[in-house]
Amino acid sequence: MRLIDTHCHLNYDAYDADRAEVIARAEAADVWRIVVPGTDVPGSREAVALAAAHDGVFAAVGIHPNSSAGFTEDWIEAIAPLVHSGKVVAIGEIGLDYYRDHATKADQHRALEACLALAAAMQLPVIIHNRDASDDLLDALARWRPKLPDPPGVLHSFSERWEVAQRGLDLDFYIGFTGPLTFKNADDLRTVAARVPLDRILIETDGPFLAPHPHRGKRNEPAYVRLVADRLAALHLTTLEAVAEQTTLNACALFC
Ligand SMILES: [Zn+2]
Repeated sequence: MRLIDTHCHLNYDAYDADRAEVIARAEAADVWRIVVPGTDVPGSREAVALAAAHDGVFAAVGIHPNSSAGFTEDWIEAIAPLVHSGKVVAIGEIGLDYYRDHATKADQHRALEACLALAAAMQLPVIIHNRDASDDLLDALARWRPKLPDPPGVLHSFSERWEVAQRGLDLDFYIGFTGPLTFKNADDLRTVAARVPLDRILIETDGPFLAPHPHRGKRNEPAYVRLVADRLAALHLTTLEAVAEQTTLNACALFC
């Protein structure tokens, strides 16, 4: 069996003490690939360095909306050359976050537009963060869709209602599911996940955050992506192996 954790912040301090062990545990748990997204300029550099150091690790580079305060085009000039380092598979994570106020909406939109332009120029897919900003975000993605590659990207750590998933699917985006799919009070999210066709789903941890049940509240890590796949198997009335095979194919279609 081969699983892919399509989103883990392995560069964060939470893994400083035991990063090599975390990667070894992932391999032991059949996690064949890990995608590490960048959230700012230094983080994008760290993601690329981790990918260079570990066979199974791949990177994305981008400016997260919560890191977009004071955004300038220099930041794009700093991350653009990283794309040529050989193991950068996407631009991300990028998007909009109206729940937190780390950056103004104006800065968030400028960073998003610049990152989407970079993705279009480099013909790389995008990893999209969305918190309480579905309408503005999907409008931007619809506008950029003709210039983005095919498939264009993933709505990562999806936590919205079905109509938002449907709009994403209509734009050919994959839908990424994380630990909350396993939480006790997440019946609405499970209903959405059951409706998304398995050939449009990616699995992710979003570690160190959002650890799935029974690790909820503790540090998350790529080995736990199997618990997300397991829950999807139950929702789609199939086996863990079938979910692993299909979601790995999906991730390869997007990122390889
Ligand atoms: Zn993330």
